[in-house]
Amino acid sequence: MPVRLRPDLAALPSYAPGTMPPVEINLAGNEVPTELPGSVRDAINDAAARSGRYPDPTASALVARLARRLDVDTRNVVVGCGSVTLCHQAVQATCAAGEEVLFPRVSFEAYPVIARVVGATPRSVPLADDWSPDLPGMLAAVGPATRVVFLCTPNNPTGAQPRAAALREFLAAVPPTVLVILDEAYREFVVGPDAFDGVSLAREQWRQGRDNVAVLRTFSKAHGLAGLRLGYLIGPGTVTEALGKVQVPFGVSSVAQAAALASLDAEDDVVERCRTIVRERTRVRRLLHDAGHRVPPSQGNFLWLPFGDRSADFAAHCRDNGIAVRVFGDDGVRVTIGTATENDAFVAAARTYRRRPVTGAREPSGSRA
Ligand SMILES: *Cc1c(COP(=O)(O)O)cnc(C)c1O
Repeated sequence: MPVRLRPDLAALPSYAPGTMPPVEINLAGNEVPTELPGSVRDAINDAAARSGRYPDPTASALVARLARRLDVDTRNVVVGCGSVTLCHQAVQATCAAGEEVLFPRVSFEAYPVIARVVGATPRSVPLADDWSPDLPGMLAAVGPATRVVFLCTPNNPTGAQPRAAALREFLAAVPPTVLVILDEAYREFVVGPDAFDGVSLAREQWRQGRDNVAVLRTFSKAHGLAGLRLGYLIGPGTVTEALGKVQVPFGVSSVAQAAALASLDAEDDVVERCRTIVRERTRVRRLLHDAGHRVPPSQGNFLWLPFGDRSADFAAHCRDNGIAVRVFGDDGVRVTIGTATENDAFVAAARTYRRRPVTGAREPSGSRA
């Protein structure tokens, strides 16, 4: 007799590790391609040598450092084992069975899965025409069962960001009992006159007594520490305290804490790394555009190619050229900005892409080569 499991687990996809066939160039994961500075590697090695001890369970040095940097109180910061884990904690802390988690579609693939794992109900609202979250649509979808809204800005996988004014209006109109999480995993890659800072927007709301806005950030992207798992949430004390209650103890390793502190010390490297990626983003987008592809502007370390029902076909063509990209159903393909050499290989593959002939029953006879 098998172990008796939660019946609703049957509806969840099994995690399939290691199904990726080897590729020469991996542009599927939104990781940064640069090596860590020596100071960060040294901090990692020093901390690793002391691995026999448990980590500081509240990561107090890192929390103090982040709070100072973001001009908030230490009680407004909580760290987690990757920001994905903090998303879990946020849903666990707010949703009873059947209550709702709201997010745009297409957006970060983890949101619906996390909602289901915790027993909540995922609910999504299609993006606006410019691939940014449809804020009026999201507002209209907030109902009595809504407990959390995830807004990824800039949005993964489309790279679009709402205007600060529109976001302000949205935040002011959401019922103050609904937690809004601005997921700023890609904040460091945002440039231009429309750039805004979710933490300032959140602080504005808190000052008006609206204690329902939080911001999620991570060391996985611009800081290049995805393998060490470290994210943080900046939120009102009631929210950070609730997240602390549902956390798995000692979830953030001492190596991750040390690496994060060292990476904050190496800020010049982080800024330079992001500058290079932003430059490449502009270059690759222009080349793709010149090759006849439609590519909306992106504020992340990735570009969005809205291939619609040709998405899987395009990804297969990339794979044939040794490049992995990420397919989002029949919506599009996301490609991470890698090194200049990797990006050139991707552009070359995109240039040679022609839609493959449809095979199967409807294929006209005699067309097979
Ligand atoms: C990559 C990414 C994260 C980062 O997750 P970690 O668990 O911190 O590695 C969070 N949110 C979004 C939208 C992302 O794309």
